[in-house]
Amino acid sequence: MKVGLEKLESHEEVAVRALLDSGATGLFMDTTFAKEKGFKMERMRKPLMVKNVDGTINVGGAITHQVKYNMFFKGHVEKVRIDMCNLGKTEVILGIPWLATHNPEIDWEKGEVKMTRCPPICGKRKPEEKKEVKRVEKDEDKEVLRKLVPKKFWKWRKVFGKRKSEQMPV
Ligand SMILES: [Zn+2]
Repeated sequence: MKVGLEKLESHEEVAVRALLDSGATGLFMDTTFAKEKGFKMERMRKPLMVKNVDGTINVGGAITHQVKYNMFFKGHVEKVRIDMCNLGKTEVILGIPWLATHNPEIDWEKGEVKMTRCPPICGKRKPEEKKEVKRVEKDEDKEVLRKLVPKKFWKWRKVFGKRKSEQMPV
């Protein structure tokens, strides 16, 4: 899905393609992409070790830098801290912490993501801006989701769907 990232120092907004990934344990941005787009990277006091799915240490090494920015998506706005690592062609990954916090409504058939269950800490954009963003994003969402949906995403769909009905009855 397309999200807007606003740099905190210059208020410049950059459109990025974010991948929702329930297999990711954090929020990540590709280092090369961040450099290209001119995001200001901050060195972390304590580097994070990166582990692969099987528990082994990632050859890419530790995460040593973060960026901070405001993230916009369909009327939702929040200040985010994101870890830098090598993601290849993926620009940004929003993993479990983000999915758990905002608990977005995802329509897998239509490929739509709705931010309807955000906690109160998520600010809202001005209505007129929101309308504009929505219109542009609607068709792109479907396309981007289809392109970016890896198999693990579909596995998550089943798991999440089951958990949802078991643990969160309406
Ligand atoms: Zn939110």
